[in-house]
Amino acid sequence: MATLHDIIRRIRNCQTNETGWLYIAGASVDLSLTTDAELGCPNFDEEIESAGFAEDNLRPTIDISTLTDCIEWADRLSGSNDDNAVLDIIRYYIRFDAWPETLNAPGPPPPEASIRDLDRQFADQLGPEDQSKPCRHDDCDRGTVTLSVFCRRHHFESIQNRPYPFDD
Ligand SMILES: [Zn+2]
Repeated sequence: MATLHDIIRRIRNCQTNETGWLYIAGASVDLSLTTDAELGCPNFDEEIESAGFAEDNLRPTIDISTLTDCIEWADRLSGSNDDNAVLDIIRYYIRFDAWPETLNAPGPPPPEASIRDLDRQFADQLGPEDQSKPCRHDDCDRGTVTLSVFCRRHHFESIQNRPYPFDD
């Protein structure tokens, strides 16, 4: 059984002009250079995967031209032919269907709706404002939240470094 590293070397050496797909074993988040991998052609007309691959628990991920693009992108980011960088880009691409701006990038940011949920949680856990202790922000007549010299809005803005997204 070949490893992902073997496949990358094969493509770097142009030892393949197939139009197939990269098959890998296991979860994409665990992908490493020693992960079992193979190039193959899924047969979309039939229920069964290419002969033998199903028994080896290999599954198709990206096609060879995307794989080649991943290698080129990784080489550009690393400024060398670093196969660990290639691994990083391939793993990211398979997981998130995108090329990261940098090596070792975390996943893409959560969608706007869940950012708003997180902001709401953050704001709510600050608790009520205490009107007997005025907010220290200029021209603010609100009270402070617990453990802060600011009201909810100004505490949020001083911590998050961006405008408070709510009306309360
Ligand atoms: Zn305030």
